[in-house]
Amino acid sequence: MQSYSLFAPAKINLHLEIIGDRPDGYHELVMVMQSVALGDVIDIRANGKEEIRVFCQNPQVPLDNTNLAYKAVQLMQKNYPTQASNFGGVDIHIEKNIPVCAGLAGGSTNAAAVLVGINLLWGLGLTQPELRDLATYLGSDVPFCIAGGSAIATGRGEQIEPLPHLDNIWVILAKYSNISVSTPWAYKTYREEFHDLYIQDSHGVSQRTHAVHSGELVRAIAHKDSKQIGKLLYNDLQKSVLPEYPEVKNLIDQFKSQNVLGAMMSGSGPTVFALCKNQEQANQIKNTISKEINDPNLEMWVTKMCSHGIITTQHK
Ligand code: ATP
Repeated sequence: MQSYSLFAPAKINLHLEIIGDRPDGYHELVMVMQSVALGDVIDIRANGKEEIRVFCQNPQVPLDNTNLAYKAVQLMQKNYPTQASNFGGVDIHIEKNIPVCAGLAGGSTNAAAVLVGINLLWGLGLTQPELRDLATYLGSDVPFCIAGGSAIATGRGEQIEPLPHLDNIWVILAKYSNISVSTPWAYKTYREEFHDLYIQDSHGVSQRTHAVHSGELVRAIAHKDSKQIGKLLYNDLQKSVLPEYPEVKNLIDQFKSQNVLGAMMSGSGPTVFALCKNQEQANQIKNTISKEINDPNLEMWVTKMCSHGIITTQHK
């Protein structure tokens, strides 16, 4: 039986702006997404049975049909029934390195890896844009996770336009293991508080989107200007999350006091990321923060921006 191992990177948001409401009930967003080298390893193989089986050691990860990786297999079975019946079920092993419920798109990147893996396993020959179209059915972050790197995401977050690659910036990720933030709660709270500021007309929405496209952050990315990138980080969800989670706000402030290039919450949190100019600085600041905060629940990782999404690491 053939098998593929895929590396599935996490993402951070360098810019997350809520523009308005959409008729489908979601928010109209404009985001700058960035892959990082911290990722999960997904092993996928035909199992010669009829069932889909998910294996993962992390107890926070569901193994049933609520797992996004499982849903990705179902989506492929529905779209390619002939191949699905020829090849039968699949086993998916997830080596979970990305913290769960962290605003780092862990589930989404696993789903993206399964789409890429099944495309290979079943010899479907789908192109990246075709995989991205399928990914929109699984969640707003899944299309970005396919090609990863640096990109602008608009609409619900599913419309992706690549940006020049960034891989020269080191990143500290920090998360309290005892804090989790519900993404729907973060957006709902934001809506309750800031609905009056929402842009209602489609012209206004496209103007805002255009402003980000031609704005300072995108220019800084094109010039690989890490200092400017650090200064221009932006996340609307901090306005709803930080007042409720003072520890997260304090963590951002602590990073900023350490002379990092910039520090912000990723997505709806609670993970905070800090950008550093090199690996040495990242390790040193991680140690300092760890000593200063001195909380056993605080977990930190040093990683780097990366210029790719899902990649195949092994084929047996
Ligand atoms: P996002 O940044 O896209 O909002 P997240 O990083 O905050 O996502 P995930 O780690 O994807 O959050 O987990 C969110 C929920 O999804 C958890 O409750 C988890 O049980 C469930 N889940 C389903 N499939 C997976 C998966 N493959 N890996 C991790 N969590 C999963």
